[in-house]
Amino acid sequence: MPDAVNQIPAPAVDGTWRRWLQTLLRGALPGRCLVCREPGAGGLDLCPACTAALPWMPHACRRCAQPLPTGDPVCGACLRRPPPLDTVIAAFDYGFPVDRLLPRFKFHRDLAAGALLGACLARATVAAARPVALVPVPLHLARLRARGYDQALELARLLARHHALPLRGDLLHRVRPTAPQSRLDAKARRRNVRHAFAVRCPSEVPAHVVLIDDVMTTGATLHAAAQALRRAGVGRVDAWVCARVR
Ligand SMILES: [Zn+2]
Ligand SMILES: [Zn+2]
Repeated sequence: MPDAVNQIPAPAVDGTWRRWLQTLLRGALPGRCLVCREPGAGGLDLCPACTAALPWMPHACRRCAQPLPTGDPVCGACLRRPPPLDTVIAAFDYGFPVDRLLPRFKFHRDLAAGALLGACLARATVAAARPVALVPVPLHLARLRARGYDQALELARLLARHHALPLRGDLLHRVRPTAPQSRLDAKARRRNVRHAFAVRCPSEVPAHVVLIDDVMTTGATLHAAAQALRRAGVGRVDAWVCARVR
């Protein structure tokens, strides 16, 4: 079957995932390539060239999702200073065409791009430890009003559906607005999001949650969210993200 799905380079262990992704996407996303407008193929809104370029994450540190060519489970930085996240799974390295698809999903409400990225993240997390609940990293209300759209919540909805997991969009909230992280260096990012999150009903928290976000850069935002959940009594916090910036 010479179609686009069969041309996606396999990221990992099993050989059945192409069929899985194909089944998932067939009929749902007809049309043109979301990146270059060439005709899509195999039921994907991606042309064969852009599909082949998908930058699936290679073997990575399980605590921070940075690629780890040595094959070790955990990188030196995470061994020296264990982060507040137990595991992080990133579907992609932040490169072409993910660097085009994610901003369109995030800033332009491109739901077809979101559906494609969500399906890829669902595939990347199919063997991951199952949490009690998925928790999207929340936007502050002011940012949500300005943007009209919460990409982490949309991703979390897709994943909750794919994996039949409870979604707890109510659990975590931003208690204060923060400057956009993209303008700040690593140290300023940490300071910017420190104590930015709080848990709404700390009397009944799930034992294990997975935070959902679109991109992990330094990890400052995810770490601040994980610390708030841990302070409220959550025993284990993981994170699943579409892409990791190196
Ligand atoms: Zn294309
Ligand atoms: Zn690490």
